Amino acid sequence: MSDRSTIFALSSGRPPSAIGVVRISGPNAGVALKALIGRIPEPRKAALARVRDPASGEVIDEALALWFPGPHSETGEDVAELQLHGGQAVIAGAFAALGRIEGCRAAEAGEFTRRAFQNGKLDLTRVEGLADLIAAETGAQRRQALRQLKGLIGERAEEWRRELIEALALVEARIDFSDEGDVPENLIEPALFVAQQLRSKIAACLTDGGRGERLREGLVVAIAGPPNAGKSTLLNRMARREAAIVSPYPGTTRDVIEVHLDLEGYPATLLDTAGIRESSDPVEQEGVRRARERAATADLILWVTEASADEATTDEFGQRAMKSEVWSIRNKIDLVAGGLSKTESPLVKDRINRSFAISAWSGLGMDSVAGALAAFARNYFAAGESALVTRLRHRQAFEGTIAALDRALGHGATGREELIAEDLRSAATILGRLTGRVDVEDILDVIFRDFCIGK
Ligand code: GDP
Repeated sequence: MSDRSTIFALSSGRPPSAIGVVRISGPNAGVALKALIGRIPEPRKAALARVRDPASGEVIDEALALWFPGPHSETGEDVAELQLHGGQAVIAGAFAALGRIEGCRAAEAGEFTRRAFQNGKLDLTRVEGLADLIAAETGAQRRQALRQLKGLIGERAEEWRRELIEALALVEARIDFSDEGDVPENLIEPALFVAQQLRSKIAACLTDGGRGERLREGLVVAIAGPPNAGKSTLLNRMARREAAIVSPYPGTTRDVIEVHLDLEGYPATLLDTAGIRESSDPVEQEGVRRARERAATADLILWVTEASADEATTDEFGQRAMKSEVWSIRNKIDLVAGGLSKTESPLVKDRINRSFAISAWSGLGMDSVAGALAAFARNYFAAGESALVTRLRHRQAFEGTIAALDRALGHGATGREELIAEDLRSAATILGRLTGRVDVEDILDVIFRDFCIGK
């Protein structure tokens, strides 16, 4: 349903800032612009303008004004943009003036992009790419988001859907004209051949080991080990020494500490499992359960022990996290006079891929841990750098398409044409949901929920 209101929002960061970009989109964008600056500038050319409150005539600010008449604008509607000074009162003044203009109202989160989608400017995968680009914290995440915004998965999916529809047309031709003499007999075989080819192409995209999804979320590195081994100290040191650290924040419960690291462009979340404690608060218990689950599926575990300790024993957590790579971190080497004599406990040893000796307290040996982490991330992501699938939604769409294709292929060349057509049609529909071609009202809210206001 197209909403005929004209929306406006601050699209730049929170005031005060040097410049505040206010965007206006909708049928009355031109009216609004004229009311505020007295004229409509030449399309797509920046114009210096005095912005006035239309009611009082008072000058609010001097700004750059831009005019993008639809449909060749970001939303597909008429769009005006004011680059004001980013002061609180300036923006408030402009908003008050805009709010009084007929048909104008403040935009909801993601509403500009939603209109762009509804006007066919962006398919759903590009909308997601845009959301990812805004959320990207590292270079590799940015590159992946930009590829998706440029249509890497969307264009491929559309191409496949077109091929599917052509195959479907063959089957339907066979059904519709089966009584007439001039329709060739063997239309089903070529249709199934196309379905088979498509199936392999789509299946190939799913063999990326989830790298694309992982790149969006980041590798999970869990710090584990016995109490007092120095886990929190290690996390703090890594958080501090990493110049590229993005955002330290408490995790799902206030006891679980997570920091986001930028490992030479690749994202990682470092978890301190020392913070995962039992709690009597049911909300926290749920948080603890999730944190444990998350840590147990970590890509890498840094198993921290005291270098002077007799033996490192694995705990319940260590047992559960069987799939991860484990690195042994012998900590507090500053306390060990004659160097390291103790060896790893047999239980842990079996699973250890690498060993480091450090002092989290003095920083000794930390360079090699940091370097190894960066190499680990590089290795992990290198193969998946151009992964098509970046979300579970994509994976499910591809899996659903494959399942429908399998059903179609299962009927065989001598199968009932109506059934083959039905399954090919359902494959095309599932694929169409990926780009938002068909029937997606129900997923729109989920996708646009992640957007900020002004986007
Ligand atoms: P956690 O329980 O594993 O998180 O351990 P903490 O990080 O809280 O550290 C336990 C104690 O060991 C604290 O008093 C730290 O200051 C100390 N500690 C941590 N790392 C080192 C280290 O490399 N050398 C020395 N001498 N003490 C350390």
